[in-house]
This record gives sequence, structure tokens and C-alpha cells, in this order.
Amino acid sequence: MTGGHRLGLLAGDGIGPEIVPAAVQCVDAAARAVGLPSIEWVELPLGRTAIDTHGAAVPAETLAALDGLEAWLLGPHDSVSYPEPHRSQLNPSGTIRKHAGLFANIRPAKSFAGSRAVVPGTDLVIVRENTEGFYADRNTYAGTGEFMPTPDVAIAHGIITRAATEKIAEAAFELAMQRRKHVTIVHKANVLMLTTGLFRDVCREVAARYPEVTVDDFHIDAMTVHLVRRANEFDVIVTENMFGDILSDLSGELAGSLGIAPSVNSSLTQAMAQAAHGSAPDIAGRDIANPIAMILSSAMLLEWLGARHDDERLIRAAALIRAGVDRTVASGTATGDLGGTASTSAFAAAVASAIDSAGLDHASASTQDPSPQGASTTGAQE
Ligand code: ATP
Repeated sequence: MTGGHRLGLLAGDGIGPEIVPAAVQCVDAAARAVGLPSIEWVELPLGRTAIDTHGAAVPAETLAALDGLEAWLLGPHDSVSYPEPHRSQLNPSGTIRKHAGLFANIRPAKSFAGSRAVVPGTDLVIVRENTEGFYADRNTYAGTGEFMPTPDVAIAHGIITRAATEKIAEAAFELAMQRRKHVTIVHKANVLMLTTGLFRDVCREVAARYPEVTVDDFHIDAMTVHLVRRANEFDVIVTENMFGDILSDLSGELAGSLGIAPSVNSSLTQAMAQAAHGSAPDIAGRDIANPIAMILSSAMLLEWLGARHDDERLIRAAALIRAGVDRTVASGTATGDLGGTASTSAFAAAVASAIDSAGLDHASASTQDPSPQGASTTGAQE
């Protein structure tokens, strides 16, 4: 892509207005460092404030604007605190994922060298199906899959389709081909035989097209045990919506903290960066939230854009952001959840400054050595 990029910005609730600007600061620094034209940020109303100003947590004008964008950053939302009727409606990220058909939720969990982790050396990716499964707000065309025929009886249903499973399995196997070529399918086919059984079987069918990839599968309950014992032995984990939501919180925490777990939600044409954690209302407004998950989610977004447009600068910008976070944490600067004392804003400033210096190193290395090897020095620190 040669022109400038327009990226949507939806700050959300709780710690969103603290961690989203932190990510913007790092993306802007990385764009400068690799010589990308400056990014145009398109701020869009969403969440509690949008209910007050526009009468809806996801106003129609926000959805219309997203239709015209390829990529955006979404902050967390605190939909359980919304006044009715908003609280009972499909929540903001579900609304956007459904509206834009973002079927793949990619959630890496990677521990940092020099930082505490329950399972050091964890480096895995949860590939979570995003549009159906056992979340009642995703599995119907209209209304929800959860209802109460009487005040004392509540019923929910789930849905698994061959088409959606095939798409998510392909995304998982393609990702595994770029990583350590190991896919783990997670299901509960001993009890939810037809639904998660179909999920497992379709994933196995797709696996047959990737003979280089090692495949295993586990029941969701057994998988939690395997993760706690040996999260560092897994590579790509593919699973349905609800299991993926639960496993990604678990693996984020095993890798160090839920505050470092990034994610991207994508279709074939649009992508949304979104931290795996929620709005953390218990720590909102105190400048102590860890912005790493949001910062790394925006790096994933740049990588997605880079792959889509075959633009090496975006890939390098993503690598610079990752390297900046790694270097900052390794130098002992971290927020409280990782055992440090840095504020959200101080941590973001430290990462942006690490990116700036890496960009300067890169510029001087390029002047001294115009060879492609010289040009890729900074990106290779990743
Ligand atoms: P949701 O259902 O919206 O995903 P949740 O119920 O999983 O939300 P979170 O908001 O993710 O809950 O918070 C869970 C715990 O993790 C809280 O104690 C919160 O303070 C902590 N936490 C979440 N995100 C961060 C962060 N970025 N930095 C530090 N702590 C965090």
C-alpha cells in the first residue's frame, strides 16, 4: 500500500481510554521509524459514552464508518454496567464481530524473557471461532439462543457448522505452517458429541491437507490441565467460541498476565485489534493498567495489513513494536500486574522511545549499509 493508512479508533470503557492511546503512541512511533506516511486515526463513538451521546453503545454511524475502513483498534467494553435496555443487548464487540463477519479471533500467549510467568517459555496461539458456538449472542440470525420459557427455567443452545469450522481450521493450519507446525484441536466430543464432534471431525479433515503439521486433540477440561502443566509445549490451538474465550484468558495468565494477551479479529478483508482482557473496571482511571495487550494487538493489526498489502514496512513496524515492548520489559520497566511500578503512560512512553531509538539505529545502519541485510537489522531483533 503506498498511500497513508486510515485506522479506526474505538476507545471503549474502563481502562480503554488509557490503553488505547498507549497503543496509538506506539503505532505512530513505529510508523515514523519505518518511514510510513502518518496514520490518520478515525475516532468513533462506542460504549458507555456513546449511550449518552448517541443513544446506543454501538451507534449506527459507527458501524457505517467501519464499513469504509479496513482495520481498527477496539478498546474493551464494560457492557454489564450499561443501563437497560443496553445491558441485555448484544455487547459491542459481539455486535461489531457479527456486523463485519470477523470469524477468526487470533489470541497469542507469549511469555516475556525477564518477566514472571506461571509457565515460562509459553509461546502459543489460540485460534478461536468467533461467529457461532455456545455463545447465545452469536448463534441466531435474530434474537438470542438463550431464553426463559418460565421464570425458573433457562435454556441456551449452541451451533457448529461445517462451513464456519472449515474456515477457522484453515486459518489455524495456515498459521501453524508459519510457526512450529503443530495444531491442537480442543472440543468436548465425549459429551457434546454432535456439535463439538463435528468441530473436531472437520478440523481433522482440514488437517489431512497439511501433512507437515502434527495434530492432536483434547477435551476442553483435560486441556486446562495440560496448559497449566505444560503450556510451553503447545503451538496453535484451534477451538470453538466459548472454549477459546476461556482458554485464552487462562493461557494469557500462564504466560505472565492477562494484561499482556493481545488479539486480532479478522475476516478476509477487515481486521480489528482487541486486547483479550476486559475493561478491568476495578483499576480504571488510575493509570496502572498494563497496556501491553493493546499495544501488541495493534502490532498484530499492522502485520495483518502488511500481509494483505504485501507491504514490508508494516511488517517491520509490527516487529519494532514487539521489540520495543520486549526491550522495555527486559530493562525492568513494567506495570504492577507484572511486578513492576511503572504507570500505563510511563510504560507506553518507554516503549515509544525504544521504538524511536530502534528507528534511528535502523536509519543510520541503512545509510552505512544499503544492502537488504542492513535494512532488516532492526526488524530482526524481534
Ligand atoms: P470480559 O468478560 O469483558 O472479558 P472479565 O470479566 O474477563 O472481562 P477483566 O476486565 O478482563 O474481566 O479483568 C479480570 C482481572 O484482570 C481484573 O482483576 C483486572 O483488573 C485484571 N486485568 C484485566 N486487564 C488488565 C490489564 N490490562 N492490566 C492489569 N490488569 C488487568
